[in-house]
Amino acid sequence: MRPNVPDGESLLAITIPPEKCSECPFGGAGPYRRNMTQAVGMQAAGTASLPPLGSLPLARGTADRGSTFRTTPDLFDRLWEEPGTRILHLAQLRAPVQQRRLVLSPVSEVARPENPIYLGSTVEPTPDLPSGTHIVLVQYEEVQPEVSPEESWVTLRDAAAELTPQESGLFVEAVAISNWHATHTHCPRCGQRTDPIDGGWVRRCPADESQHFPRTDPAIIVTVTDEEDRLLLGSSAAWPENRFSTLAGFVEPGESLEAAVIREVEEESGIVVHSPTYLGSQPWPFPASLMLGFTARASHAEPVADGVEIREVRWFTREELFVGLREERLSVASGASIARALIENWYGGPLDEEPSAGRP
Ligand SMILES: [Zn+2]
Repeated sequence: MRPNVPDGESLLAITIPPEKCSECPFGGAGPYRRNMTQAVGMQAAGTASLPPLGSLPLARGTADRGSTFRTTPDLFDRLWEEPGTRILHLAQLRAPVQQRRLVLSPVSEVARPENPIYLGSTVEPTPDLPSGTHIVLVQYEEVQPEVSPEESWVTLRDAAAELTPQESGLFVEAVAISNWHATHTHCPRCGQRTDPIDGGWVRRCPADESQHFPRTDPAIIVTVTDEEDRLLLGSSAAWPENRFSTLAGFVEPGESLEAAVIREVEEESGIVVHSPTYLGSQPWPFPASLMLGFTARASHAEPVADGVEIREVRWFTREELFVGLREERLSVASGASIARALIENWYGGPLDEEPSAGRP
């Protein structure tokens, strides 16, 4: 049981953009979102059971996003007057890190920019940040000069695994919302440039007053297994040869997640799967994906690569995967990806350890 998130359907409700959430009586900003914040916070605190994939590197955020607070009039005037406010810096999708900690500067040290973004308030107290500390994103065109020799500006992929859950979550949120603003600058109805409002979580068109909300692109990613519990992995035409991963693809408009799993696997491998089962998710803001991890079963069949997206696709036993990786004839996705977690979930442990006896 997951308190407040009783089933997979509620978990997946977060993929519905607020303006499209017809089931939510609060216009999308009500109980659904609060339930997610509570559930994620409880997971981080270890008081709720995690989904089968466990704690994923980019899905550990704990901040209270303050969806009501961020609509406060003169929000940033107030936040710049509040001495406890901290600033997360971002330039070219890099943030400063010092001694493996995300730099969160006191607001008094940072000039107020034209369009800051409210990221939320901290929930878990740390020695230098009490709970309830407001975090604001400030962006720059160029990486800023380092303030000390220990400081360096790093990408989310470089830093995510080393940061605390709170820091990692703020960094993920900052990159995701920054990507949305960078690519959604104008009104899709009339072409007028839009203005950020509500702490940077809505853009409004001054000409027709339409409001536009941050978008997330759902993508499924799936471990397909056969009757012998072998795993289907594909090698993308865009990757180095012999790099393999789980099959994945974007959900199309008007499509359920389960239908997307079945369609993508068949398109990329020719294999027909059944019984897609949800295992967990994590944001992948490169630039705007939410990866939804599934597993599905297939009858024993020979896969055929599509020859366009996928160069090679084949079944692996655990032994074949372990030996291939050990002899460096194969490589698989890195530690921050949900693909790695999905493969290890099937494998039964870390890939650098021999497979358990008795498993195919
Ligand atoms: Zn417009």
